Amino acid sequence: MSDLVRPDADGPGADLDPRAEELARNLAEARRRIAAACADSGRDPGEVTVVAITKTRPAQDVRRLAALGLRELGESRDQEAREKAGACADLDLVWHFVGQLQRNKAGSVARYAHVVESVDRPTLVGALDRGAVQADRRVGVCLQVDLDIEERPNRGGARPEALAPLASAVEEAAGLDLLGVMAVAPRQMEPARAFDRLASVHERLLADHPAATMRSAGMSEDLAEAVRSGATHVRLGSALLGRRDSLK
Ligand SMILES: *Cc1c(COP(=O)(O)O)cnc(C)c1O
Repeated sequence: MSDLVRPDADGPGADLDPRAEELARNLAEARRRIAAACADSGRDPGEVTVVAITKTRPAQDVRRLAALGLRELGESRDQEAREKAGACADLDLVWHFVGQLQRNKAGSVARYAHVVESVDRPTLVGALDRGAVQADRRVGVCLQVDLDIEERPNRGGARPEALAPLASAVEEAAGLDLLGVMAVAPRQMEPARAFDRLASVHERLLADHPAATMRSAGMSEDLAEAVRSGATHVRLGSALLGRRDSLK
């Protein structure tokens, strides 16, 4: 075996990591899809931030994504998020909490999350604010919007008409910054229609809160529709890391 190909512990082969190569390919493909959706809608790909959703994946995958230049990471469960943020504390990452949040976990989340995207009720605003103040931190907040026009029970989110008082509560909270809105397209709605609805809800919010410009919309399956409708952040799990059910 020549020196050039030997996977030596500290030689040139030390960089060979098939998983890292897989993630690099997936990221390139996701960026290609984002760029195509931007081209369709006259947007600059630089306006769209990828938040890598690493739930169920090991901290080593977070390190691999960071090595590829991703800085914004997301998780949906407090304990898993807290452990991964702790294990990667040397990396200077921005952690988003995107899952449904119970009030009794808000204090914990406020200690490591930089952005909580899933705020959908006043009791959560109070609990997150107390946690942020106690931890002497500021926590960014997105209001999660329930876009379902038929008002079926969904996985979290405030009804559009409930957003104005929620936004005021966040603005008044000493430890929280209102960043914008987040939504998941309801299963029963076409994504383009759902995200257009989010766009108009967001525009109404911006009239009173012009600094709240973040619009987190789109996941692996519907990122193109989200980008075309003006998303500033897409939350990508399986598109970057592979299907989660393939682990089981
Ligand atoms: C898991 C999750 C994602 C990522 O989902 P993929 O379909 O794997 O891209 C995005 N947003 C939220 C709120 C999630 O829970």
